[in-house]
Amino acid sequence: MELVGIARLAFRSELLEAKREVEYFELPSRSILNRTRPNMPFQWTINPYRGCEYGCKYCYARYTHEFMEMAPEEFEDKIYAKSAAAHLLRQELGRIDRKEYIAIGTATDPYQPAERRFGRMRGILEVFARERGRHLTITTKSDLVTRDIELLREIARRNVVGVNMTITTLDEKLARALEPRAPRPELRLQAVKRLSAAGVCVAVFPNPIMPGLTDSEQALDRLARAAREAGAMSLGGGPLFLKPSSQAVMLPFLEREIPELAARYRELYATSAHLSKAYKDALALRVQRVRERYGLASGMIEYRPEFWEGEEQGELFPLQ
Ligand code: SF4
Repeated sequence: MELVGIARLAFRSELLEAKREVEYFELPSRSILNRTRPNMPFQWTINPYRGCEYGCKYCYARYTHEFMEMAPEEFEDKIYAKSAAAHLLRQELGRIDRKEYIAIGTATDPYQPAERRFGRMRGILEVFARERGRHLTITTKSDLVTRDIELLREIARRNVVGVNMTITTLDEKLARALEPRAPRPELRLQAVKRLSAAGVCVAVFPNPIMPGLTDSEQALDRLARAAREAGAMSLGGGPLFLKPSSQAVMLPFLEREIPELAARYRELYATSAHLSKAYKDALALRVQRVRERYGLASGMIEYRPEFWEGEEQGELFPLQ
């Protein structure tokens, strides 16, 4: 059959971009809590998903797909949901000290789009809602965390819980380029506002702070002010490190989009994934100045909301 009119035009059209396809897999898991190295500020981590659709150019966790013999880019397209996450957590929690910190979302975002379908994070929070005296933090770039506000309040009655909202920049254009499929910074700030209004402890994390992109005092100041106004209590602040699997995505991105920075990055990360001590020290002082300007703490806070029912009560009147 001969194509005519719009059908013929469509047939001859040049492909501009193929629609991204994301594949989801169930990852059989034997455990959900992972022990960290001794010098970390938290002792356990939980990552309900492997791979992350947000596709941040600098993402350090791409190496986790290398273990599965996949290319760094596949980290964004092949997402693995850990099986029986809540069930495993219920079994494993009994074996760990209540005072030890558990950090959720250290490698991949627990509220990435897959969470809407598979609800692994929600299942995990439902387990914590029945606990008391636990210490946990949740790190995300997604306003989907507000879906779980009531659960977070329930957890916060008897446990110490904090949400770390990652916002690397308030510049919408830069955020779109660096974090192409993550929620806009404005949506993340609105989530901070809603969480803090509900009495949930929130920190804003500018991590990773990127040389020449987000590390100026002006940019950090703007972010800290917005964080404070939204009700955040603390401000994180760690510099970018780039493992080879992350360099494989970040460096070509810079060459394409911000060529004037590409050579500098090649030089900065030529021999190590980490920046120099001198840079890190100067950055730490800059972040500290900004924190002090807005009365923001650093690190984790043992925050007790008004509705705290706490473990002290349980210790004073132990259940028989
Ligand atoms: S949100 Fe986090 S885990 Fe996901 S791609 Fe970005 S940096 Fe990586």
